[in-house]
Amino acid sequence: MRTLADLGEVAGQRVLVRVDFNVPVHDGTVTDDTRIAAALPTLNELRERGAALVLVSHLGRPQEREPELSLAPVAQRLSELIGEPVKLAPGARGDEVAHLASALRDRDILLLENIRYEPGETKNDPDLAADLAGLADAYVDDAFGAAHRAHASTVGVAELMERRAAGLLLAHEVDTLTEVLRDPARPLVAVLGGAKVSDKIGVIRSFQRVADTILIGGAMCFPFLKAMGHSVGDSLCAQDDVKLALSAMAGDSIGGPEATLQLPSDLVLADHFGDDAEPVALDGLEVPDGMMGLDIGPRSADGYAETIQRAGTVFWNGPMGAFELEPFAAGTRTVARAVADCPGTTVVGGGDSAAALHQFGLQDRVTHLSTGGGASMELIEGKELPGVEVLS
Ligand code: ADP
Ligand code: MG
Repeated sequence: MRTLADLGEVAGQRVLVRVDFNVPVHDGTVTDDTRIAAALPTLNELRERGAALVLVSHLGRPQEREPELSLAPVAQRLSELIGEPVKLAPGARGDEVAHLASALRDRDILLLENIRYEPGETKNDPDLAADLAGLADAYVDDAFGAAHRAHASTVGVAELMERRAAGLLLAHEVDTLTEVLRDPARPLVAVLGGAKVSDKIGVIRSFQRVADTILIGGAMCFPFLKAMGHSVGDSLCAQDDVKLALSAMAGDSIGGPEATLQLPSDLVLADHFGDDAEPVALDGLEVPDGMMGLDIGPRSADGYAETIQRAGTVFWNGPMGAFELEPFAAGTRTVARAVADCPGTTVVGGGDSAAALHQFGLQDRVTHLSTGGGASMELIEGKELPGVEVLS
């Protein structure tokens, strides 16, 4: 992967930077600027080296040019963070945009309007890619969260730019996640939870090959428990997921040594999913009809925590229960604390897992909290990300 050091001299030149500014915006204001702040090291380095920047990002999934998906609030917040004016172009192509780009002086920043206003973006349209490439002398991709998509601003434009490189954030994400699979400090413990086995089967398969232990929690444990012959009552448990769980337990199509797969031994139940649901402890695994499992039980959570604390490397994706509801947050909290306290390398991926860490105030206590949901899962599954491949 080519890095910023490989770009060479950029002073007096324009660099097109694909950033991930897909942030929450309410009433014209950015409500969480984590992703904007995460791009600053790359933007600052390029500006310190004397480049002018043309930034490209998407925001949401516009069907047409919905004004509420304009990047105007993002330009405003970026300008506040960087302490310099940031100009917002009226679009991403056309004479006026080309003119604004060519008028940039060293260290100036121009943010193009939401790239997904352009219908050619998600189709990787070659004309759009050529227009983007025409705006700058070099290309940098720092949008890890979009690297699993072959779009005009991630792949098409990169193919047209002789000088292209990964930004600091993208390179760090790729290096950290790849290292977990390639050469982890052992034991490597994967903690996998969340809603559905089908969402995570690729990740489970990957860790069966490389991890020492896989700890399963969340609604995802019920297809496994059902496959083992336990009754799951009304717990979330799709029939297709039971088949996937069975094949994962059989270990078919996996060569070499396999990780030990651990399941909970106690649960917390309720008769419905909701804030007002009354938690009922179950010391065992037979969920009666009319009840559903909404969290792993305290014995399971403590056992998982012990395994996590002895790990050389932990990868955690997916909450252990319905953590958004306080009565069912305990299992996820215990596991999150153990990950935070683990002296080894700790990597967390997934939108809801990140939300859980924030809810418990532990977001700064892990080695790496991935910014890319889909992209980090695909990397862990061993898939090649088109936005990363093109930077090699
Ligand atoms: P991530 O975004 O971290 O990859 P997922 O999206 O796979 O995680 O799963 C998170 C969702 O799973 C949460 O909304 C949570 O409420 C739900 N969940 C976890 N355990 C259960 C359960 N036992 N029953 C119902 N929903 C659950
Ligand atoms: Mg999720």
